[in-house]
Amino acid sequence: MCWSLIRHDAAHVLAEAVQELWPGTQVTIGPVIENGFYYDFKRDEPFSEEDFPVIEKKMAEIIDRGAAFTKEVWSRDEAKAFFATRGENFKVELVDAIPADQSLKMYKQGQWIDLCRGPHMRTVKDVGNAFKLTKVAGAYWRGDSRNPVLSRIYGTAFANKAELDAYLTMVAEAEKRDHRKIGQEMDLYHFQPEAQGSVFWHHKGYVIFNQMETYIRRRLNKSGYVEVKTPQLMSSKFWEQSGHWGKYRENMFVVPDEVPNVEDTGPVLTGEGDLMALKPMNCPAHVQIFNQGIKSYRDLPLRMAEFGCCHRNEAHGALHGLMRVRQMTQDDAHIFCREDQIQAETEHFVHLLYSVYGHMGFDDVVIKLATRPDKFGGTVERWDAAEKALGDALRATGYDFEIAEGEGAFYAPKLEFHLKDAIGRSWQVGTLQLDYVLPERLDATYVAEDGSRQYAVMLHRAILGSLERFIGMMIENYAGKMPIWLAPTQVVVATIVSEADAYGEKLVRQLQDAGVRAELDARNEKINYKVREHSVGRVPLMFVVGRREADEGTVSVRRLGVEGQKVLPADVAIESLVLEGTPPDLKQIAAE
Ligand SMILES: [Zn+2]
Ligand SMILES: [Zn+2]
Repeated sequence: MCWSLIRHDAAHVLAEAVQELWPGTQVTIGPVIENGFYYDFKRDEPFSEEDFPVIEKKMAEIIDRGAAFTKEVWSRDEAKAFFATRGENFKVELVDAIPADQSLKMYKQGQWIDLCRGPHMRTVKDVGNAFKLTKVAGAYWRGDSRNPVLSRIYGTAFANKAELDAYLTMVAEAEKRDHRKIGQEMDLYHFQPEAQGSVFWHHKGYVIFNQMETYIRRRLNKSGYVEVKTPQLMSSKFWEQSGHWGKYRENMFVVPDEVPNVEDTGPVLTGEGDLMALKPMNCPAHVQIFNQGIKSYRDLPLRMAEFGCCHRNEAHGALHGLMRVRQMTQDDAHIFCREDQIQAETEHFVHLLYSVYGHMGFDDVVIKLATRPDKFGGTVERWDAAEKALGDALRATGYDFEIAEGEGAFYAPKLEFHLKDAIGRSWQVGTLQLDYVLPERLDATYVAEDGSRQYAVMLHRAILGSLERFIGMMIENYAGKMPIWLAPTQVVVATIVSEADAYGEKLVRQLQDAGVRAELDARNEKINYKVREHSVGRVPLMFVVGRREADEGTVSVRRLGVEGQKVLPADVAIESLVLEGTPPDLKQIAAE
């Protein structure tokens, strides 16, 4: 049975239960959302999670009564009068918002009735017993802060208890792995209100960031990309030309190009300066570099990469830790190529992407080829050829892919790459978007073999997407226990007695000389305390040293999450750590 139907029905049952328990509570809307549903109520005293057991009990009762869902078509006036006499003012407003030429559908379950588009299942019994209320929150009526605050109850429902339990386990696991919590425990980064959606990377977090960037840079260098750096701030005229000023401006930060008033009085800005904007993406700037000098067909493909720092004006409420930020660093690149190179370039990219994901520890990748939407630009022939080129490229790689019918961008098809993480969640990470439009808008041409001027084709592609979000995802996937090559501190040398301090210092120096990120912990603390603290910091290895280790030139190796320890000669332990901490691409080269 379809989850969205079960959840929609469950939302009606929730609303009936609440009104039966607390007469006078007004109902508003109750849509199905990802992984569940909610219903917004107006009640003087907001609901709390303590109300859940009694509401759930009432819901079960209503489901047991087994009333059938019946649909009725009402006139607007009938519906308005009905809701008005019951004091359901929000419903009256909803009825008013429905266009006059549309009929109104009302769904009844027993005595309870709601305005609803439907569809519903046969009876409330079909909701079954695999439902659960999950949280409450305040929400403004129609999302507008000038409107009354409503009490929103969230819930979810599944076809059976096993599915519900699996989901609840996943949610509990996701909570434990929340990158915001782990990021704090590991001292990786923080946010503060003065810089909404922009990360303050602490040293340890920035080590991860740098390792990731360095890794990608190495991979791109070896794959025939050139790296560039383009301006942060560009004139609105530039964005007008690229088309972003018209279609994308609401997502951009606009900055006036003038010297601010430094006096205490008067406005800071006159408002007369030309407008500039922080770049929300790198694409048009890359075309400027492409357009320097005349390009010949022999210069193509040109693969241009940038770890571009981009700003997008996301609403404060939409921000979510590293997952949704306003300032992001993309592993962005644009491939300028001829039409007959699309297929080979796509194939080349997909191989690179799979190898990167493999190195990051993700083997479960779902590829979607998003095809021509109902509303589209360009000709059908070009769409067909482009879809065929992408499809053929995927077939040549041998990786399975799905077709996302009609989900292409307005001008061209695209590929999406979704990763499955350790607890079964899916993340869209990589993309490859074909683009004929921007090269034409910005006049990106090359001289073809026959001497004619042709527009280049652009492939916008990213593997990690934004480094911020990818790191957030990695933290959750590994519950903070990063692969050793990415761990901020790879080993802590911890002394048991102060007589071993000198030996510990010597070891740390040796480790650092060998390129290992090592720290000394010579504090006058019990070893168990040190072990506990560094395991909260997710340090993968500890070399514990006391008098005996110092005398014998050994270390006691403790591995995060593993019981016990192993005594090894210091040089052997260091050598094996160097090997283990080598980035996977370099390891591969060494093995070849
Ligand atoms: Zn409904
Ligand atoms: Zn782009």
